[in-house]
Amino acid sequence: MAATLIDGIAIARELYAGFRERVKALPGRGMQPGLAAIVVGDNPASEVYVRTKTRACAEVGVHSVQHRFAADVSEDEVIGLIGRLNADPAIHGILVQLPLPPRLNSERILQSVDPRKDVDGFNWHNLGAIVAGHPRFLPCTPLGVMTMLAHEKIAVEGCHAVVIGRSVIVGKPMALMLIAGGATVTVCNSKTRDLRDHTSRADILVAAAGRPGLVQGSMIKPGAVVIDVGINRLPDGKLAGDVDFASASQVASRITPVPGGVGRMTVAMLIANTVTAAERYSAQSPGR
Ligand code: NAP
Repeated sequence: MAATLIDGIAIARELYAGFRERVKALPGRGMQPGLAAIVVGDNPASEVYVRTKTRACAEVGVHSVQHRFAADVSEDEVIGLIGRLNADPAIHGILVQLPLPPRLNSERILQSVDPRKDVDGFNWHNLGAIVAGHPRFLPCTPLGVMTMLAHEKIAVEGCHAVVIGRSVIVGKPMALMLIAGGATVTVCNSKTRDLRDHTSRADILVAAAGRPGLVQGSMIKPGAVVIDVGINRLPDGKLAGDVDFASASQVASRITPVPGGVGRMTVAMLIANTVTAAERYSAQSPGR
């Protein structure tokens, strides 16, 4: 293997030490950041994600609560709970675990989260603020990628970054953050005519398509940095990214593994955003 691994687990562990200090430094006796997770139905993948997030909260001293609904819950019931959490001073971050059952209008539910508690960064106010260049909460996955690049001292400014995927939660904000960092950015999607033509010119390649093995080593510019956001469950039960790791790691200079790469950073950024939300709350409500 020619490429050096970018270890999301090690970077996240380092970041957690800083989060613990920030939690301890929160003014007001007994002030503890609080994160509420809302889970609908019994999707096994969602259960794993929520467990991981809850464990991460415990590690840094963030209080976490889970609210569970059966799959046949009404939209209004979920939105009613979000309304109560929006008003709860002990809760600084609210996350709605996706995917929600298709019967429910996810957008309506996500948009009911108070933008000040939107630690996932999915609220349109927060997404729009990125476009305007005044971000408040950045979506956790692209923020995790940017944090990883900064930690590894990988220069973004001036490079050509290619993002595969244009979803609202990963691809689009990823592109905007890379633009803000001074990169020249190409965003590919499922209609892109010649994907290889774009990927082979990327200094930084971010794959977020949800297609295992989409990016082969032959599609990568020698020496490029390859960030694999994809998390795909293979028929044999194993997890794989969008990048064929075996061939890509022969060509890239740096590469993230799946698992143990961007996924860990996403969880770390959720905790970072929750601590930030609590700090902002405490700054606005001195004496609490
Ligand atoms: P999504 O909403 O399904 O979006 C996928 C995007 O990829 C779409 O824009 C789609 O294009 C594009 N795409 C699909 N096939 C393509 C192809 N052959 N060539 C070029 N573009 C293609 O998925 P998402 O929520 O963004 O997630 C993407 C992947 O990241 C998934 O594997 C997901 O599990 C993973 N993920 C990981 C983390 C993490 O923490 N590591 C967090 C979130 C998501 P169109 O728009 O044209 O359909």
